[in-house]
Amino acid sequence: MAYTLIKNGTLIDGNGGETVEDAAVLLNGTVIEAAGKSSEITVPREQVTEVDAGGGYILPGLIDTHVHLMMEIDSLENQLTTPFSYRFYKAVKHMRRTLEAGVTTVRDAAGTDAGVKQAVEDGLVAGPRMQISVNALTTTGGHGDNWQRSGIDTTLHGYPGNPDGICDGVEEVTKTVREVLRAGADIIKVHATGGVMSPTDHPEFTQFSQEELEVMVQEAHYRRGLKVMAHAQGKEGIQNAVRAGIHSIEHGIYIDDETAQLMVDKGTYLVPTLLAPLSVLEKAEADDTVPAYSAQKAREVFEAHKESVARAYRAGVKIAMGTDAGVMAHGTNLRELGLMCDAGMTSMESIVSTTKTAAECMGWGDELSTVEKGKLADVIITRTNPLTDIHSLESNDNIAAVFKDGKLVKDLLNANVSVEV
Ligand SMILES: [Zn+2]
Repeated sequence: MAYTLIKNGTLIDGNGGETVEDAAVLLNGTVIEAAGKSSEITVPREQVTEVDAGGGYILPGLIDTHVHLMMEIDSLENQLTTPFSYRFYKAVKHMRRTLEAGVTTVRDAAGTDAGVKQAVEDGLVAGPRMQISVNALTTTGGHGDNWQRSGIDTTLHGYPGNPDGICDGVEEVTKTVREVLRAGADIIKVHATGGVMSPTDHPEFTQFSQEELEVMVQEAHYRRGLKVMAHAQGKEGIQNAVRAGIHSIEHGIYIDDETAQLMVDKGTYLVPTLLAPLSVLEKAEADDTVPAYSAQKAREVFEAHKESVARAYRAGVKIAMGTDAGVMAHGTNLRELGLMCDAGMTSMESIVSTTKTAAECMGWGDELSTVEKGKLADVIITRTNPLTDIHSLESNDNIAAVFKDGKLVKDLLNANVSVEV
């Protein structure tokens, strides 16, 4: 067995408790063997590779529960003229940048198919561990339907391994859920309301009936034991999704006190993606990539979104970190932690939201997300203390080393361990 000893760091283990100074973490292959005070770690006699954390901070590999690895915001012209298969090569770059940010696990909220996931699992390309939703279910004219009133339709209506997501009525919804599951989805994604980036709807529009949402939960959850995640921004759509038994609300722009309480009562997670509208606005100011209708909607929802997340936080809704990466550049994920702190969280709470709570949201709480004996060896080393400067995580230069499954996939420490690419 190959042992790696990470030493000379302060441990922030992801559980939200006290930090441990002069800590060490012993990795045994793909699993964490021990973590804690270095004086209390028994180092085995076998060959051990030592990694000096340089007085930095040792954290679990981070988790982003809402990304789109297969996309990154681009001009309409580029979308229309880029060859189809080019998107897979771009995804390789997106996944590499995600790892560079210290994010070792993601939940893909539509676009990434089973081949991409398998390529990472087989070690063909470097990327985060992932759960995929393959494609999102969308109503005709809803968020995800990019049909334009010119008659031009930029929606990708499915390709082998990625079925078309547009469906209306119980029968079509049932069939589409089954097709997405057949294609290898780990989770079902639905657009329960309109959104910011779509041409003909609005975040407050309710999409899919209560009955249609319940059919999705029935097919995915009760028949297959899988979860449903809902892009839900307007109040009515959020409430419908929560009542239908959907596991997580994505974005959640218009959560009032009643809705927050409903989420607490049902144990529904919120994935805020505060970075999404902010980066749409930043991009709209920087160049003309963002369509005018999207910039306008982002401006409309921006303040309401921040208040909504702050309200949910105060009410005690479980919050899992998610960014909507793809709407912004991949690799900028950790800006979200600073925004969550602006909404009222402490730095430690934002870290727990990006580790333990995020893993629990994905159903992987027992396997990963904290630096503890028996968990998967996903560990990062930061140069700065995120508890005193959460914004320092925004610079990937401060993410000094990243281990995924015990393998060093990023190394700015010159740890003298072969970097796995
Ligand atoms: Zn999204």
